[in-house]
Amino acid sequence: MTSSARPLLNRRLAEFGTTIFAEMSALAVRTGAINLGQGFPDTDGPEEVREAAVRALRDGRGNQYPPGPGVPELRAAVAAHQERRYGLAYDPDTEVLVTAGATEAIAACLLALVEPGDEVVALEPYYDSYAACVAMAGGRRVPVTLRPHEGTFRLDLDELRDAVTDRTRLLLINTPHNPTGTVLTRAELTAIAELAVERDLLVVTDEVYEHLVFDDAEHVPLATFPGMRERTVSIGSAGKTFSFTGWKVGWVTGSRELVGAVRSAKQFLTYVSSGPFQYAVAEALALPESYFSAFRDDLRAKRDLLSAGLADAGFSVFRTAGTYFVTTDVRPLGETDGFAFCRALPERAGVVAVPNAVFYDDREAGAPFVRFAFCKRKDVLEEAAERLRRLAG
Ligand SMILES: *Cc1c(COP(=O)(O)O)cnc(C)c1O
Repeated sequence: MTSSARPLLNRRLAEFGTTIFAEMSALAVRTGAINLGQGFPDTDGPEEVREAAVRALRDGRGNQYPPGPGVPELRAAVAAHQERRYGLAYDPDTEVLVTAGATEAIAACLLALVEPGDEVVALEPYYDSYAACVAMAGGRRVPVTLRPHEGTFRLDLDELRDAVTDRTRLLLINTPHNPTGTVLTRAELTAIAELAVERDLLVVTDEVYEHLVFDDAEHVPLATFPGMRERTVSIGSAGKTFSFTGWKVGWVTGSRELVGAVRSAKQFLTYVSSGPFQYAVAEALALPESYFSAFRDDLRAKRDLLSAGLADAGFSVFRTAGTYFVTTDVRPLGETDGFAFCRALPERAGVVAVPNAVFYDDREAGAPFVRFAFCKRKDVLEEAAERLRRLAG
């Protein structure tokens, strides 16, 4: 402590304590519970991608500072991926920027594009770094809450329109959506795009789960809608798609002007990162479609396994259309407070989950919801489902 009465942590960040993941992961270690709290796979990604990283290290590629915008091989691979999948053409030299994961991309976008006092409209519940990054940029966050509707969480488009004011600078959109597992439909995206054009807003889209969509859900980047390419920064990441969350390789794509602005902030955050891994991710993005579909099929089966176990245990289970997560409602179990429920769950059932309330400004609105991650080995999910069934007994 200093002798001054002034708190060490500045006012912008004071409301953000330690993340719930630290508390819950410590609880998992202490109790030996199965950790379905944090969203990271317990199996590493493709062997050939790991080997590509080893080769890059051995060949001395990326061991020193890579170029500021990212290595040319990865920028070309990102541009090719956007073109092939979505018909979005970006110049790899000026319209693609490699970042230290999506996390740095989010921070750099907000620090670059937001003036103090600007309002940022974001879908609530939101990924935990959004609120902190808006605060660091001096912006004001304005949540639009996704509400339960027929077994999923949906966006109320009137609520979104009402949230936009003359002070709104940008929309921060995440689809496929963590933690609800919602994938915005073409109709919803059309409405968002029309609103952005009408109100002349910038849009930042977090698409880290773009490949993890199930059944008949479809991921459509907002940048593909009329009038959106020039106002949208799209964020991608290798972590979730290739099961290498420790590598921290992400990227943004957008117009030369937008990407140039984001680069201005990014160069003073990490400058560069993940040298050898950038070469490996360039190869990963060029994997055949069979890799992506097999990964998706595997995750869909895991979603089904865990969702069924949760339903048997007595939870009300929301349908997950994308991501690593399934959100549940604990009220059918006679509970009302997801926080208390998650704190007790390791002792009661030997499983760790996360209370969705931590992703809400409106804690009340998120109180009964609890998130479980299914990006784990099948035997781990089977054991977790078995343990959770105790809650029913
Ligand atoms: C995991 C996650 C991120 C962070 O991605 P990294 O590439 O690991 O930094 C960003 N947004 C959402 C919605 C996520 O779930």
